[in-house]
Amino acid sequence: MVRVILTFDVEQDCPPFASSTRGMEEGLPLVMDLLEDKGIRGTFLFTGRMAEEFPELAKRAVKNHELGCHGFEHERFDRLPRDEVRRRLSEAREILSRFGEIVSFRAPNFQFPDEYYPILKELGFLVDSTKAKHKGWKGGVSEISGLLEVPATTTSIVTRLPWTLQKTFHKRFEDPIVYIFHPWEFVRMSRRLRPDCWVGTGKNALENLHRLIEFHLSRDAEFLTLGEFYHEYQKLKREGEL
Ligand SMILES: [Zn+2]
Repeated sequence: MVRVILTFDVEQDCPPFASSTRGMEEGLPLVMDLLEDKGIRGTFLFTGRMAEEFPELAKRAVKNHELGCHGFEHERFDRLPRDEVRRRLSEAREILSRFGEIVSFRAPNFQFPDEYYPILKELGFLVDSTKAKHKGWKGGVSEISGLLEVPATTTSIVTRLPWTLQKTFHKRFEDPIVYIFHPWEFVRMSRRLRPDCWVGTGKNALENLHRLIEFHLSRDAEFLTLGEFYHEYQKLKREGEL
């Protein structure tokens, strides 16, 4: 049976190319409506800033899904010194922890140097999903500096392709399949931005997400959050099944 983890990097619109928050205002509520209607829990990795600005959405993520962390303000951690990385992550964590327990993390732009992983561990994170197969990561699920690494499977460019084209990919992805979406993909973004910020955005993206869910439900896939995957992994490890 295939396991599917739907993750959402919850940030301002297509950072750093825009600074509006239409995805938060109009897109994310539609996504949460869809998942809740299907009885599926998503993993919503918020920046600290977005949780401060949209506390009702962060509360809804805790209540019906999983709330995780996507940095403080979508910073490039690979360009920051260690002390600054720790300061920003701890600030983001402090904000997000006001809403509920935080265990999952993904760095913005898939950039998080290996030598910084112990900082995540120190701050209490348990699972990371920054490594990405579409960025050349060859490993599967593994442990890095005491964190469980659950690599992302595919870029959101794929999930915005016409359904007939993208469907062939979904059949071939290996378990566990970790998808990445963003709130701004579910509103029609301006064509003045670079193409990957607007191609396939809007109603089309929501329809594709709906089809994706139906497709995996028809294969009896198990939908779970990053935190749930972590606990399932630990249980299998204890039972000696890994
Ligand atoms: Zn991001």
